[in-house]
Amino acid sequence: MTTLSDHQAVGLGCPCGANEPLGEAFQTPTRRYVRCPVCDLVFLKPRPTRDTLEEYFQEDYDGDYGEVEASDDRQPVFQSVVHHLSLYRSPPGTLLDIGCGDGEFLVLCRDAGWSGSGVELSKRAAMRAAQKSVTVLSPHMLEGGEWAQHFDVVTLINVLETVADPVIMLRQAMTLLAPGGLVIVRATNGTFHLSMRAPARWIGSQYDQAFHWYLYSARALTVLMEGAGLTVISLRNSKPSRGPLSPVHPWFSQLKWTLSRSVLWPLSQILYYVTSGRLVWAPSFEIIAQRSGSSL
Ligand SMILES: [Zn+2]
Repeated sequence: MTTLSDHQAVGLGCPCGANEPLGEAFQTPTRRYVRCPVCDLVFLKPRPTRDTLEEYFQEDYDGDYGEVEASDDRQPVFQSVVHHLSLYRSPPGTLLDIGCGDGEFLVLCRDAGWSGSGVELSKRAAMRAAQKSVTVLSPHMLEGGEWAQHFDVVTLINVLETVADPVIMLRQAMTLLAPGGLVIVRATNGTFHLSMRAPARWIGSQYDQAFHWYLYSARALTVLMEGAGLTVISLRNSKPSRGPLSPVHPWFSQLKWTLSRSVLWPLSQILYYVTSGRLVWAPSFEIIAQRSGSSL
């Protein structure tokens, strides 16, 4: 069973294992974020513990995000991931979706020919997934490391932002893979959202910015994946999703969503193609990595 080192268990240091002093990234009235000078990861300090995480997802997640994650708004996001995957793994095989929510992504995968299963900490979301005939496995099986089955693909869609330790999660994902297997991660693009902090302040919208526990640049996630024994083979912008509507100014959230879809998305795609894939500037990105030492 994977165990946290004492250093990591109390939320000190960066998950990449670097011992360099952490730089200040930014603060909100209640949170302090630091940046690792080695891997470029920005994260909440102190980092939440595993107990905090499990309690949050089992009890509170549905009220905060579960409904939005289950909305039709997520369909383009899920379709984007399924399409990206089809470029690197055809015909479809077995797939495990960690943090499967209410199973909508797995329903799409099933329609595309994948044999999928999910893992979900939120009991209510897992129940909704089961009602769609989605196979939901116990999250504790993940930590036991004794799976009878290995998967061709493991997916982590907006999961690494709110895990206790992303490197441990990526290592667990890797051990679940069959030889030549792929991990696909969709993550909030920290580079984009941090660059939006100043404009958001100018228009009084700074509290609408939802920062999770970890903010990844493409470089940070690449370094962490490689540290976990994975080799990155594809990186691209991910279709935007609306996210939760601000309860104070729902119209403003709607305006931001319209701008994001009609201006930011086409702009980020142009930047991506003009720079031959080096600049990933959409609000979220997708990255596919392969278990090192194996071929496609
Ligand atoms: Zn680091």
